[in-house]
Amino acid sequence: MRIVITGAAGFIGSHLADALLERDHVVVGIDNLITGDLANIRHLHEGAFQLIEHDVTRHIRVDGAVDAVFHWASPASPIDYLKLPIQTLKVGSLGTHNALGLALAKRARFVLASTSEVYGDPLEHPQKETYWGNVNPIGPRGVYDEAKRFAEAITLAYHRHHGLDTRIVRIFNTYGPRMRLRDGRAVPAFMTQALRHEDVTVFGDGTQTRSFCYVSDLVDGVLRLMDADTREPVNIGNPYEVTIEQIARTIIRLVGSHSRIVYQPLPVDDPKQRRPDITRARALLGWEPQVGLEEGLLKTVEYFKRKLAI
Ligand code: UDP
Repeated sequence: MRIVITGAAGFIGSHLADALLERDHVVVGIDNLITGDLANIRHLHEGAFQLIEHDVTRHIRVDGAVDAVFHWASPASPIDYLKLPIQTLKVGSLGTHNALGLALAKRARFVLASTSEVYGDPLEHPQKETYWGNVNPIGPRGVYDEAKRFAEAITLAYHRHHGLDTRIVRIFNTYGPRMRLRDGRAVPAFMTQALRHEDVTVFGDGTQTRSFCYVSDLVDGVLRLMDADTREPVNIGNPYEVTIEQIARTIIRLVGSHSRIVYQPLPVDDPKQRRPDITRARALLGWEPQVGLEEGLLKTVEYFKRKLAI
């Protein structure tokens, strides 16, 4: 198949490109590199991979046949979408519209990268796909959350109105190699700090929870979803839930760091708890995460050591 990935130079987009190329597909990546990095795809620049540098909030043109479109482009770290609020809203809305238009023109399958942020600060725990969420539309995170909620709505509208073959994956916290050192998210922040023996910055009192999925498990779930026959959103994430303080301590221990934990103010609307209910993914995709937290963190530490030249 010939597959388009928007956001192909990003953390997850580039791993998705790797996995599709391994399965002998041809990949056309599109990225404007505002949060993506050419270093993530440099190893792909030959034969079956092509990069188009383009902002998908403007009309997307791809010549030739396309069998599937993975719409992955978006700032995804809270510090990025706070810095780039308008671009975040535009890529989730206009960008999704353009990516859907491309899929429709090519009669291609469309896979949307949605997010656990559609559940906001959830009042239901763990989060099932049937939960409608608790999102503050005018808070700082609203630019990402509402853009992704709009993206889900327009994706389903293209399915219902145009008969487009669509999939929606709700991605929970994911980590692994190719996250940026200054990405701002918990795992890369704590790893960079621990490897440099600097203070590890836990926001709030550290009792808020997340459930971290290693990137190879996430990509495996996405590829299974692409092949499955469902229009319903599917949660892909690791149900193993930890507090932020716990993950900070685990990273400090695994790195063998002298860092100490310091507490900083909790960002506005930071969700207090998050854990996916993956019953649907298990039933429809036969999917289950395989990589344990410490195993995945150790693989990620190796990457960060190389990046920091430690
Ligand atoms: N966090 C933290 N210190 C940091 C970065 C993040 O304590 O240096 C916390 C953040 O407040 C949140 C959790 O870690 O409660 C996960 O944050 P992240 O930015 O990784 O993603 P989110 O799940 O909030 O989108």
